[in-house]
Amino acid sequence: MYRMSEKPLISANEIRERVTTLAREIAAAYDYDILISALTGAYMFTADLTRELAKAEGAKVYQKTIAFIKASSYGNSTESSGKLQVRGLEKIDLKGMKILMVDDIADTGTTMLGLCKMLQEAGAQEIRTCVLLNKQERREVDLTADFVGFEIANEFVVGYGLDYANDYRFLPDIWTLQETN
Ligand code: 5GP
Ligand code: MG
Repeated sequence: MYRMSEKPLISANEIRERVTTLAREIAAAYDYDILISALTGAYMFTADLTRELAKAEGAKVYQKTIAFIKASSYGNSTESSGKLQVRGLEKIDLKGMKILMVDDIADTGTTMLGLCKMLQEAGAQEIRTCVLLNKQERREVDLTADFVGFEIANEFVVGYGLDYANDYRFLPDIWTLQETN
């Protein structure tokens, strides 16, 4: 059994402020062609990030496209199964493209690293990664996210698009789930 922390780990206000500065960091550093977002966890982050990118990138943003893929490795547990399933990538023309790959969280890093390898194999010219949350302590593969919203400790978090067994996604803040007996 799990229960939510008493207070949010990261409030909606903190998220809003950080997403604004993160968009500025991206706009200053990387002129990508396609933003690819990994469903489902990154949907809320992606909606907010793209609106902030529109402000930060000016007219350049008119040329950018967005695509969604479905990456799953978690099932209904809080531990990664380690197997990456990806759907939707085959519909995107990646040849020669500069990609900004967006996900909710980098945990072991398996998902993001696997996605980057697939993008590369499909002919992407350049790939940079962006995650709202990074659990560096949990890393099992050689992945360094290029743009990170928040560094967090080794805790399971929900809200702002992130789920536990598909619950909690609608919450505007990010909360920690604590195990109870
Ligand atoms: P990784 O492949 O890096 O181990 O895991 C990445 C994926 O696992 C994320 O896209 C996310 O779906 C899920 N994940 C990892 N940590 C958490 C967490 O603390 N909370 C939630 N809700 N999902 C997580
Ligand atoms: Mg995910």
